[in-house]
Amino acid sequence: MLRAMGQLKLAESTVAVVGLGGLGSLISFYLASAGVGRLILIDGEKVELNNLNRQILYDTSDIGLPKAVLAAKRLRSLNPIIDIEYRDTMISFDNVEELLEDADLIIDALDDWRARLVLDRYSQLSGKPLVHGAIDGFFGQMTTIVPGRTTCLACIAPKQLGPRGCRAALGAAVGIVAVLEALDAIKLLTGVGRTAENRLLIVDAFNSRIEEVELKPVDCSTCWSKFEDKL
Ligand SMILES: [Zn+2]
Repeated sequence: MLRAMGQLKLAESTVAVVGLGGLGSLISFYLASAGVGRLILIDGEKVELNNLNRQILYDTSDIGLPKAVLAAKRLRSLNPIIDIEYRDTMISFDNVEELLEDADLIIDALDDWRARLVLDRYSQLSGKPLVHGAIDGFFGQMTTIVPGRTTCLACIAPKQLGPRGCRAALGAAVGIVAVLEALDAIKLLTGVGRTAENRLLIVDAFNSRIEEVELKPVDCSTCWSKFEDKL
């Protein structure tokens, strides 16, 4: 159990959850229930039937409705004493600064590397930490980026960014990555425990295994340039 000081730090924190699909549903649920004082929920998409195996904030009566609006409503009823805001929009270079300016911490719960690199660029320029997670079928990965202390996300992004989305994500596998992300967010905000900084955790739910790859901190001032013309 977190001590009172940790709880106070959570209550004074603002976290932006970018993406309210499988990862974002769970992460925002845990952050709201942990008592993070202010959540900014960002997603411009609507609920689809094939989302429901993993997007636990929604049900069949929500199909066709905006995820951000629904997520805010659900989480407000879960924890009415915290401040929950939503932005029914997709993140881009045009709006990232405005959307994230109040956030102390950014959560990557996206399914698109181009949008992730928008978050990464903002994180590097603002110095704000970014908790990264991604899913592909039975597999997933997560790490925590702290500018100046760790690698950036561009360091580990695939060379070919590819299309949005992934192979059909197994709901329970999404859960593992989401929980790792929520834990690191809480640890970063409270200063308790050891985060996944400079370690890439690779979740292999097919073989019930989590592997760890060490990431060496480097000078990230030029990492961005290799993607500049691809975004
Ligand atoms: Zn880098």
